[in-house]
Amino acid sequence: MKPGHVPDDIQDRIVPSPGGRLIYRCMGCDLTAGIERLLYTCPDCGGVLLIYNENEADYLQTPGNVWHRIFDYRKMLTIPALKGIYRYHEFIGPVIPLDAVIYLGEGHTPVVEANGLLQELAGIRFYYKNDGQNPSASFKDRGMASALSYINYLLKQELVSDVLAICASTGDTSAAAALYAAYLAPRIKSAVLLPHKKVTLQQLSQPLGSGAAVFEIPGVFDDCMKVVEHLSDTYSVALLNSKNAWRILGQESYSYEIAQEFEYDLADKVVVVPIGNAGNITAVMSGFIKFFRAGIITALPKIIGVQSKHANPVCNYYREPDVDKRQFVPMAAQPSVAQAAMIGNPVSMPRVIHLVTLYNQLAGDQRVFFVEVTEQEIMDWELTANRNGHIACTHGGECLAGLARAVQTQVLDSNETAIIDSTAHALKFSGFQDMYFEGTLPPEYGVTPKPELVNKPALIRPAGVPRFPSHQHPLTGEELDLFVKKTAQNIADRIGLVKRRS
Ligand SMILES: *Cc1c(COP(=O)(O)O)cnc(C)c1O
Ligand SMILES: [Zn+2]
Repeated sequence: MKPGHVPDDIQDRIVPSPGGRLIYRCMGCDLTAGIERLLYTCPDCGGVLLIYNENEADYLQTPGNVWHRIFDYRKMLTIPALKGIYRYHEFIGPVIPLDAVIYLGEGHTPVVEANGLLQELAGIRFYYKNDGQNPSASFKDRGMASALSYINYLLKQELVSDVLAICASTGDTSAAAALYAAYLAPRIKSAVLLPHKKVTLQQLSQPLGSGAAVFEIPGVFDDCMKVVEHLSDTYSVALLNSKNAWRILGQESYSYEIAQEFEYDLADKVVVVPIGNAGNITAVMSGFIKFFRAGIITALPKIIGVQSKHANPVCNYYREPDVDKRQFVPMAAQPSVAQAAMIGNPVSMPRVIHLVTLYNQLAGDQRVFFVEVTEQEIMDWELTANRNGHIACTHGGECLAGLARAVQTQVLDSNETAIIDSTAHALKFSGFQDMYFEGTLPPEYGVTPKPELVNKPALIRPAGVPRFPSHQHPLTGEELDLFVKKTAQNIADRIGLVKRRS
């Protein structure tokens, strides 16, 4: 649809022009700073930052139902910059002109209702939102679209040049960073640091394919993060980890999409996300808060953050009911099949602490909950989801395991509807499925395969076939007929097929 064809009253709003006044604010000391330069941590206290719009009041003047119409009509436009996360331009990055927006197909991922069987097993109505259907097959593309659009904006204004983008990663951040940086080649080069042997082959292949410099570091993600932090403190590089507050802005689009998908009615809705470095849950809370303040939604959904017992520092923190006694203790993460969330010292913890309090205050009630699950539950629920028509990764399994637990422990009740995050595509983590099926998952994971969930290919070489076809020696005539008949019969016997009558 052409912008000129939208109703008159939203004509001048349908294609946004740059606006707002964005600033960084420190979660530690409240210091504010302009966004003209790339800033990752507070120059005063070293705390983490979030980005705020000082002119937020401008947007609050628009009634919620007008926003609904703006976003709903924008959905029909064919302008690339408005096809992804910047459909919500005013809330994602109002200062970014549309010609600086990088759009590689991210966002607006499918929301798929679980079938009756799976809903019955979980004990609640729910949908998967498949963030594995983003361009690099994880939700990280949302944040990279924002971070790289901002860098592109700085490049265009000649505020920076020859950017070297760098990140530490449990796999998916580097895949996304390398992809978006490659799109801006040669003005941006990228380098990624991965924990040696702690990312899947698929994840390793992604930054290599995008042409990034890939460094494997002994240790776990938290060790890589320390090296990257040292690099970004010492050298001139653009840090693309979720410490970069632009990443959080972009990831808020996940909440905005849920709001739009459910026609802005989020009463009795529950949003379930896995927690690793806690950037995602930060963004999800922040996004809903912004839409709530702007009157775009009138109820804040419940949020459930899920962690594996093998990497549960956030759950440990919130286990203490007395707010004054809570103390954050980083931990050494144990091996987890939810490998992208295998983090013992989440960078965004101060953001989480700040936003959980605010979220519950605004809702007037506890609306954010934390649930922990076992590795066994993660694998079993992932496989069960996928056997019912989903494409959930291990973290999608973690979310479903968390949802089922939350129903069992009465954090949720059965009249609520959940939207759970499959943060990556099943294929990225299929190695864990293979090990489960083969019974080769190392004992540290603490997972015992359930025979009813195991599935393996069967090689069919029936007796009584003198020769089997091969690439070099194809069969013909009677030999081929015999091979086809015997093979078909063998398959029919194995799966119990019944012969046609006529
Ligand atoms: C990064 C990642 C997570 C964890 O998200 P955080 O923002 O670090 O909490 C979960 N799942 C997948 C697939 C990821 O790539
Ligand atoms: Zn500070």
